[in-house]
Parts: sequence; structure tokens; C-alpha cells
Amino acid sequence: MEISSSLNLHNNLKCSVCDNYLNIPPVLTSEDGKVNKCGRCNLKGPYLTNRNSLYESIGSKLNFPCINEQCKERLSWFEVERHEKSCPHRKIPCPFWACRDKDIQMNALNDISHFQTEHPGIMCNDKLTIDLNGIKRHNSFMKVLTVDSLPYLIIVHAVGTGERIWIGVFNFDTTRKDYQIKLYSGKQLRKCIIYKEPVTLYDENEQCLYCLQNLCSIETHKYSKNYSETQKEKFKFYTKVDVLCTKNVLLSEDMHFEISIVPPEVQVPNGTA
Ligand SMILES: [Zn+2]
Ligand SMILES: [Zn+2]
Ligand SMILES: [Zn+2]
Ligand SMILES: [Zn+2]
Repeated sequence: MEISSSLNLHNNLKCSVCDNYLNIPPVLTSEDGKVNKCGRCNLKGPYLTNRNSLYESIGSKLNFPCINEQCKERLSWFEVERHEKSCPHRKIPCPFWACRDKDIQMNALNDISHFQTEHPGIMCNDKLTIDLNGIKRHNSFMKVLTVDSLPYLIIVHAVGTGERIWIGVFNFDTTRKDYQIKLYSGKQLRKCIIYKEPVTLYDENEQCLYCLQNLCSIETHKYSKNYSETQKEKFKFYTKVDVLCTKNVLLSEDMHFEISIVPPEVQVPNGTA
């Protein structure tokens, strides 16, 4: 069944909090049935506990328009969440602190110029190369890597005095890619360590440098300091580099990082996020 904006029924299928269709689970309903909340608003008030499984089972048979008006896609219940993270018309808040307070929205796939003009120095092409001292100097930082004119957000977070480094790479469209982290010593060129992990589709509520740093208190950010129960999982999208172990393997203090995008090694079946 198609849900279209001309259908009168559609207002009853909207979330009372964000006014989008109730098409991302869990759908929660107040005791009196007047307030309905979608999965996008999971972390926002009001606090509801009744899961509306009857509605969810009907909703899962419907097709919905995309949240972005310019987009002509019709989406099944199961496609909505992934599509919203990768829709070519999607606007996201710029992930950099300087822009957060000003609520600057951008289309990451098409507005790379925003990064270039507002955040000079974060852009790199094809691959990012940086040495351990460079990482220690910045401690926690983001870079935008472009490969074949597609942007990738790289988040690097060094813990303590840099004995542990977390690196994550995120994209804004659904092409499956892996990222490769190559660690090598400037002197011992024969030795290197390589990590390969799938690139994760960027979700501004889950991937946030300032959440990693424990500085962020945005309500919708799953790993912000407001939510102590999620802190344990906040690094699950990141690769951990243990600096001491790596130095022992490389037999050198001189450690270089090369982060690049490579074809995917494992084919993940369609439809999984
Ligand atoms: Zn909502
Ligand atoms: Zn769309
Ligand atoms: Zn910005
Ligand atoms: Zn955050």
C-alpha cells in the first residue's frame, strides 16, 4: 500500500515529536493513544514505554515517501532508516564544533565547498598520511578525505597521551567500501601492519568526535555524556591502534599512518545497515 502526502490518513501516521512519518521503529504510544513517537526520536522526550506493535506490523507493509521533499523515492518500512542516512538530498548538521552552535546544515555529498571554505586544512585527497607525533599534537580531530570525488569523514581520537588511538571512517552514500589503515615505520620500510574494516554509513547521532571526547551533550547523540549506559559501546565503529604493541612489531619509535579507501573485502548482504 502506498502512503502519499495527499492521503488524508497520513496525519495520523506522523510522529508527534518530529512530524515525520511513523516509519522507523520502535513506535511508542502514550497511554491515551494521543502521542506517538518514532524511532528517530528515541532519545527525545516525552518518555514513553508502550511499544505499538500493532501499528508497527501494519506499518511494515506500507510504502512511504522520503523525508526529503525533493526526493522521489518510495520506501518500504525496511528501507527508510538506511535511505535517510544516504539520500542524495539529505542535509546534515556540519560535524565541526564551530558550526554546531550556528546550526549550519549542509549536504555532505554536494556541499564539499562548505568544508573547503569554512574548515581549511581538513581536506585531503586519495589518502591521509600522518605520523604519530602529528596525531599526538592534534589528539582528536576530523579530516574529510575525497576519493573519486566522494567524501569520507575520518575521525581520529587519541586516548591519554596517545597510547591508544581510535580511527573511524564514514561515508555519506551506500557504496560499499573498506578503509585500510597501514602502519609503517619510516626506517623499516619492509615491516607494516594493515587493518581493513568496512566504511560505516555516517549517522550524525552516532558518530561524533565530541561524544568520543566526552564533551558533547546533544540530546539526540546516542553516545553523548548524558547517557552513561551507552559509553561502553561508543567505540564500536572505530579501529583501535595500540601504540606500544605496534612499536614493538615495527621495531621503531617512528610510526606513520596511512588511511585509504579500498574495495570491500567481504560482501555484506543487501539491506543490513
Ligand atoms: Zn519522530
Ligand atoms: Zn530520499
Ligand atoms: Zn562547518
Ligand atoms: Zn555528540
